[in-house]
Amino acid sequence: MTDTPTQLFIGGAWVDAADGATLPVDDPATGEIIAHVADAGPKDARLAEDAAVQAQEQWARTAPRARSEILRRAYEIILDRTDELVHLMTAEMGKPLAEARGEVAYAAEFFRWFSEEAVRIDGGAGVLPDGRNRMLLSRRPVGPCLLITPWNFPLAMGTRKIGPAIAAGCTMILKPAPQTPLSSLALAAILKEAGLPDGVLNVVTTSRAGEVVEPLLRGGRIRKLSFTGSTAVGRLLLAQCADAVVRTSMELGGNAPFVVLEDADLDKAVDGAMVAKMRNMGEACTAANRFFVHTSVAEEFGRRLAERMGALVVGPGTRNGVDVGPLIDRVGRGKVEELVADAVERGARVLVGGRTPEGAGCFYPPTVLADVDPGSRLMDTEIFGPVAAILTFDDEDEVIGRANDTPWGLVGYVFTEGLDRALRVSERLEVGMVGLNTGLVSNPAAPFGGVKQSGLGREGGRVGIDEFLEYQYLAVPVR
Ligand code: NAP
Repeated sequence: MTDTPTQLFIGGAWVDAADGATLPVDDPATGEIIAHVADAGPKDARLAEDAAVQAQEQWARTAPRARSEILRRAYEIILDRTDELVHLMTAEMGKPLAEARGEVAYAAEFFRWFSEEAVRIDGGAGVLPDGRNRMLLSRRPVGPCLLITPWNFPLAMGTRKIGPAIAAGCTMILKPAPQTPLSSLALAAILKEAGLPDGVLNVVTTSRAGEVVEPLLRGGRIRKLSFTGSTAVGRLLLAQCADAVVRTSMELGGNAPFVVLEDADLDKAVDGAMVAKMRNMGEACTAANRFFVHTSVAEEFGRRLAERMGALVVGPGTRNGVDVGPLIDRVGRGKVEELVADAVERGARVLVGGRTPEGAGCFYPPTVLADVDPGSRLMDTEIFGPVAAILTFDDEDEVIGRANDTPWGLVGYVFTEGLDRALRVSERLEVGMVGLNTGLVSNPAAPFGGVKQSGLGREGGRVGIDEFLEYQYLAVPVR
């Protein structure tokens, strides 16, 4: 967008960082700098916090219907501006235009969903078992929130938090990832246009995340942290939240197993694998990281998957017909290269891909590895790239044990044509979500989130708003 804001959004105004600092945003397809945005320091964060704290009381009193209608208007504006947002997201993040279009629709849907939830916040009333007291229950916004998002879904990770926070009546500071700040700033402009009162949303873009965030979490005025990102950073932030007993929602990393049982329909399994692996170039927390395929069908599955992966077109996301854009940066690509090299050293066969192309941009080809050794590093590291690693198994108990043998538990995928088996295997997986004969689980109407070290809490669905509400119970004697 030619008029995309590049300043901080604090108290409803666009402002520079107090020390005038800026940070560059580049296009991962070319390495060229496409914008400079304000680079906030702790002083700017404090101003954003002041604005959020000041706006909280009034905002909590705003009628649910008014909050709902702001979200609904923002939903419609996002849809009207789809083309601009798609190009902006592809420019700063690299995903192909078609994927960016899918993300804009997905992101907008969180606003529509939570516009509907804003007017359904219920309470309760009743007589307590002793008969002497009544109980009146009301639900109130938790208070000013800090929302921290990653770069891989620059718009949707924002709306998945902002939507329920607005619906619940919370004010907030959003800190997007420094690689992809423009989508968040564009979103703030849309919400302002939709009528969001000043101070309810504040956006602080920064390259100094640690310095900016820690004082907010320890200061006692921020009442809630909603974080999406890696487990390592999530753990650090949980510790910082302990001082002021800040409530948290944590959407962390994954290490998804993709299980193909011997009675699976291989057409469905390969279709599912393409989505579970290749959505967002493999840069998704939901990405299938470990393919466990029954020995009897592994060769055929690998052959078909390699054929499909090899047919994908790699190139700049803006080019027509491109399926696979660049990875986010050289660091991300370097990690993928190292994981593949390690697996190959331990005996993996490269069925397709596996070689970094020459030239500018952070491209990496769709890659399928067969006969992967279970001791390979990619078995316990998020690959975050277009690499499918196939291992084989012989029986159900064995594969469930291996699938669960990880500290993560975000999502798993199961492919089988047997109903009882499908349910049994799904229920035994230690994950928050299962794709049963499908490679896609994300939907704004479903509760998204993981168990174990993949996180705490859920985003989306009927329960998504609960993360931003707390109960107040009034005891009233029966007289
Ligand atoms: P990341 O390195 O953990 O960063 C996530 C966010 O946290 C960024 O905004 C980052 O800003 C910020 N951050 C990093 N260190 C911080 C600190 N010390 N204090 C405060 N903020 C800090 O993750 P990422 O590389 O952006 O994203 C990929 C990860 O996100 C993967 O693990 C993926 O699985 C996970 N993810 C999970 C979900 C889910 O719903 N479960 C969804 C999407 C992604 P800086 O970059 O400036 O440090």
